Amino acid sequence: MDHCQLCGGRAVEPLLDLGAHPSTSALLVERDQAEPAYGIAVAQCATCGLMQLTQPWPHEALIPRFEWMTYREPEDHLDGVVDTLMALLPVGSDGVVAGITTKDDTMLERFRQREGIRQVWRLDYRNDLELSVPHAGIESVQHAVTPHRLASVVDRRGPADLVIVRHILEHAEDIQEFLAGVATLVRSGGLLMLEVPDCTTGIAGHDYTMIWEEHSVYFTPETLFSVLARHGFTTVHKLVVPYRTENCLILIARKTGDIVEPIWPLPTASLANGRAYAADFQSVTARLQALFADYRLRGGIALYGAGHLTASFLNYHGLAEHVSFVVDDTPQKQGLFVPGARLPVVSSAVLAESGVMLCLLGLAPEHENKVIARNSAFIARGGVFRSIFAGSRRAIHELFLPFDGDLS
Ligand SMILES: [Zn+2]
Repeated sequence: MDHCQLCGGRAVEPLLDLGAHPSTSALLVERDQAEPAYGIAVAQCATCGLMQLTQPWPHEALIPRFEWMTYREPEDHLDGVVDTLMALLPVGSDGVVAGITTKDDTMLERFRQREGIRQVWRLDYRNDLELSVPHAGIESVQHAVTPHRLASVVDRRGPADLVIVRHILEHAEDIQEFLAGVATLVRSGGLLMLEVPDCTTGIAGHDYTMIWEEHSVYFTPETLFSVLARHGFTTVHKLVVPYRTENCLILIARKTGDIVEPIWPLPTASLANGRAYAADFQSVTARLQALFADYRLRGGIALYGAGHLTASFLNYHGLAEHVSFVVDDTPQKQGLFVPGARLPVVSSAVLAESGVMLCLLGLAPEHENKVIARNSAFIARGGVFRSIFAGSRRAIHELFLPFDGDLS
C-alpha cells in the first residue's frame, strides 16, 4: 500500500500480518477440498489513524458460494434514525428515498410507511449495476458503484432526496471511488446517510476477528465523521449507537457542494491503541492455545456458529487442532466444513451427546441467552458456554490465567 484510503497520506505503518487464509464464508463441501488463500494484514495511517487492509482481496474471491448466505446487521436503532432523517429532509422535498443494497431494505420499508414519502427505490443489481454473477452481494456492489455508472442511473431514475448506505462503505476496496459514486445519486441539498460498524471496542478488547477479508477499512468515530467533506457534503448529524460487541456509527450529511479537505488532528490515542492491539496478538494467541489444549484433555471443546467470526477466530489463532466440531442451527450449513479449520459443522444434538465440556459462542452476545436456552441438555450434563468476544459477559478471556494485559 502506498497511500491511505481515507486521507491519502503516505505515512501508513504496517501493524499486524495474520498470514494467508481462505475466505471465511466459503464453507467446504469436502473436508480436504482445495482452498485458495490470500494474505490478511492491516496497516494504520499515521496522519488520520484509519486502520486498513494492506491489500484488499480481489472482489471475485469474495463472491458467496451459496445463495442462502446472509448477513444480519443490528436494527434496533432504525426507527429512531428514520425519525431523525424525516426531520432533516429539505422543505419542499419530492420525498424520494433510495438505497444501495439489500441491507437497506428494512430501512427503506420503514420509509414506505411514512407520510410525505412519495417514492422509495433501490439499485437493481442487474439493470443498474450490470452485475450478472449469481449470488452477487456486497463484494460485487461495492466494486460496481462508480460515479460513471451511477450518473447513468440518475439519468434514468432521477436523483434522490435521501440516499441510505448501510454497512457497505467498509467493504469498498476504494472508498473514495465508492463515495463519489453514491454522492452522484443525491440531489443538490439532499441527504446521504452512511452507517458502518465502529471498531473502537474490537481494537480495545483485542478482538482479532474484527479483521475480516471483506472489510477493507476499520472506522472509528474519529475517522468516519470527516469522510464526506471532500465529496461536497456538510455533516448535519453524527451518531454512535451502542451495541455490546460493536457499536454502529451513523453519519448524515447534506449535499452542499462545499468541498473541504479535512484537517486531521494528530491521532495519538488511535495509534497507541492500534499498536497495542497488534503487539498483544502473540500473547493472546498463546493464552488461547494453552486454554484450548487444556480443555481438549478435559473432554473436548466446540464452537457455536459457523460464520465468518468463528472461522477467523480459529484460523488466526491456530486453534482448529484442539476443536472437535462447530455447531450451527442453519440446516444448510450442517454437513459442510469450516474454511481453513476444516472442522465439521453439526447440529446442536451432537453437542448434547458428545463429551465436549466447553462450547464457545461465536455469535452476537445479544443472541446468547436464546441459544443457551435451546441447549439445556448440554448444560445439564455439566457443559459450559463461553463467548469468543471480549464484549460478552461470558467472554472466554476471563478463563485466562492472570496477566498484565488489559482485555476488559
Ligand atoms: Zn489516513
